[in-house]
Amino acid sequence: MVLYTGGSAFFALRREILSQRTFSIIKPDAVRKGHTAAILAEIEGAGFKIVAIKRASISKAQAEGFYAVHAGRPFFPELTEFMSSGPIFPMVLEKENAIADLRKLMGATDPAKAEEGTIRKKYAESIGENAIHGSDAEETAAFEIGYFFAGLELK
Ligand code: ATP
Ligand code: MG
Repeated sequence: MVLYTGGSAFFALRREILSQRTFSIIKPDAVRKGHTAAILAEIEGAGFKIVAIKRASISKAQAEGFYAVHAGRPFFPELTEFMSSGPIFPMVLEKENAIADLRKLMGATDPAKAEEGTIRKKYAESIGENAIHGSDAEETAAFEIGYFFAGLELK
């Protein structure tokens, strides 16, 4: 059977088939400094659809669970202390190639090494306080989305 969908219907179908979800957090430093709206504008401007978003505050234990892959690294206590130091905006984002494209938009972990125009270059201060988180692979995205959002919030 040949499926023919002309014009915009074709592109809508293509978008749906190729779309990918990723998980992001606007971190406490960026929220404290009032950069939330500017960062969301960067994200939407780059073509991401915001599927779910909320304001949250997490405990140190919850931050340890989220960043469990880094347990034992020298920066782990500092990282989890920081992530539980104030409100954050966890969110689920969708677009074609969302995981890699968000990482590109965020810039390098250390803002001093981030490319011009990236979110970390513009809004982050240091490697420890770097404004935004983004999933690094499909499996981590699935774990991280489930850590913060219930299925019913992800329609
Ligand atoms: P994130 O997972 O938050 O999106 P990332 O994937 O760019 O950041 P990771 O290697 O996963 O970087 O590290 C997680 C977080 O731990 C970093 O965002 C950073 O805040 C902190 N971190 C990583 N390396 C260091 C370091 N050498 N010194 C201090 N903090 C660090
Ligand atoms: Mg990471």
